[in-house]
Amino acid sequence: MAIHPDIPFDRDGAHHGHLRLPYSRDDSAWGSVMIPVSVIRNGAGPTALFVAGNHGDEYEGLIALHELAATLDPATIRGRVIILPALNMPAVAAARRTSPIDGGNLNRAFPGRPDGSVTEKIAHYVARVLVPMADLVCDLHSGGKTLDFLPFAAVHVLQDKEQQAASEAAMRAFNAPHSAVMLEIDAVGMLDTEVEAQGKVFVTTELGGGGSTTVGRTAIARKGVRNLLHHLGILPGAPEIGPSMMLDMPDAACFTFADGPGLLEPLADLGDRLAAGDPIARVWTLGAPGTAPRLHHAGRAGVLISRHFPGLVQHGDCLGVVGVPV
Ligand code: ZN
Repeated sequence: MAIHPDIPFDRDGAHHGHLRLPYSRDDSAWGSVMIPVSVIRNGAGPTALFVAGNHGDEYEGLIALHELAATLDPATIRGRVIILPALNMPAVAAARRTSPIDGGNLNRAFPGRPDGSVTEKIAHYVARVLVPMADLVCDLHSGGKTLDFLPFAAVHVLQDKEQQAASEAAMRAFNAPHSAVMLEIDAVGMLDTEVEAQGKVFVTTELGGGGSTTVGRTAIARKGVRNLLHHLGILPGAPEIGPSMMLDMPDAACFTFADGPGLLEPLADLGDRLAAGDPIARVWTLGAPGTAPRLHHAGRAGVLISRHFPGLVQHGDCLGVVGVPV
């Protein structure tokens, strides 16, 4: 393994340290990428693996896991909690989705390579060493700088229905205001796909976006990770459960993409109820005064759960996603 942890995974107590990944470069011949990790353990029991900063500009998870690592008292738990609060540390430090070192999108790099780029080596270590230790993996995402989401926890449709039911139970325990059975545009190389292929329970989230966060959205993340610990029996007591709207994403008609570049004018906000064919945005052509905007429509009836965040769009950008209430 290219990566070496400086804390133990099998000893009781709260251990905070790093995964050290050697990274030889111009400004440090024998330098390292230092990836923060906390292991909080108390005797035998289940293992939960929490990940944030898989993408570096998604803040709810980063905040919730920094707080969990700083506050979870090992005396109160049974089992083990492994916390990776900033997994793609180079991307997090640069406030970017992808790594400034190799341009790697960590959540498209799984299962990684032991002899690959920095990003591929991180993926390989997580896939081969950390995921096998876990009973449940929770990977906390948001929209980053270019998307904004109605906050939801999510699972995927899986071949193994028992595994899907266990993942849905964990999603319900996370108890975000919305819960989605999610269709991925591009599932190849995702941590999700790797964890699910290993037969583990997996919950992901999309909790906000725009490259920042709010009081309410960080509260959702904080409650969700604690709720998962109650759900697994790592913390005593029951999860704190409020209402959550169940959403489905049956097919690719849920996604609307920009038919060309331009200036984005939203015509629907997150949470709006839409009929199939309702306009969700129009795109004005820059530098072409007097021309009409191009309308973009919802492909399905449902609730707008995601939208493009910046004011300008490029050809092929995802402008909006509709979730169908179940
Ligand atoms: Zn993400």
